[in-house]
Amino acid sequence: MEVLTEPPRSALVVTPHPDDAEGGCGATMAKWVREAGTHFVVVLCTNGNKGTGDREMSPEVLAATREVEQREASAVLGVKDVVFLAHPDGGLEETREFQGQVVRLIRLYKPEAIFCIDPYRSISHTHRDHRMSGQVALDAAYSYAWSHLHFPEQITEEGLEPHQVREAFLWGSESPDVFVDVSGYLESKAESLSKHASQMRGRPTTDRLERMKGWAGRAGETAGVSYAEAFRHIRFDLGTLDWQLLNS
Ligand SMILES: [Zn+2]
Repeated sequence: MEVLTEPPRSALVVTPHPDDAEGGCGATMAKWVREAGTHFVVVLCTNGNKGTGDREMSPEVLAATREVEQREASAVLGVKDVVFLAHPDGGLEETREFQGQVVRLIRLYKPEAIFCIDPYRSISHTHRDHRMSGQVALDAAYSYAWSHLHFPEQITEEGLEPHQVREAFLWGSESPDVFVDVSGYLESKAESLSKHASQMRGRPTTDRLERMKGWAGRAGETAGVSYAEAFRHIRFDLGTLDWQLLNS
């Protein structure tokens, strides 16, 4: 159990749907952007075009709406870079194309850390897109991005270089082991979630903030702070590339 005090300088946040990243690590993003200048890039895997109960809403209009909402939500947290992969909502698959897209972004932005949803649960279930996005993000960082022999065309034709990600922070985990003290940043998190207006059914930001205080307060109790976001932490830096080669 550890309260994190050394933020990474850069991080790639791989998130399945608009609003998932804000709910999972929104306050951490706001805090680390403000206090440490961490450069976050949010990678939105799907276009969220099934996220409505409104039978008058078309998938096309919904996808366009949610892209605007995502940019506004990220801006509230101080995150300027948002990449839209635009896979269909509910249709995220572990394809070579999707793996290659995440590897390319790791090689392009060279993040020290990745954030994603914990894809492995044993007690509760989770959305298929959540599992797919989490697994592909971890595999891209751990198995592929560091070696020039994986997705070699990105090296030879696109001019990218291999990159080794140092660590991963998994939100939505059943077994979190690190915490970020987000006291003072829940307001930003609630406000960013409010930007996803198509998903919020008119509920006021104040209600959202109260609910968040409940969740973050319980995590904070475990961590010994007022409010916290919780993650499962994986370190990839177990040595040099030699170590990776031994395990490939
Ligand atoms: Zn989701």
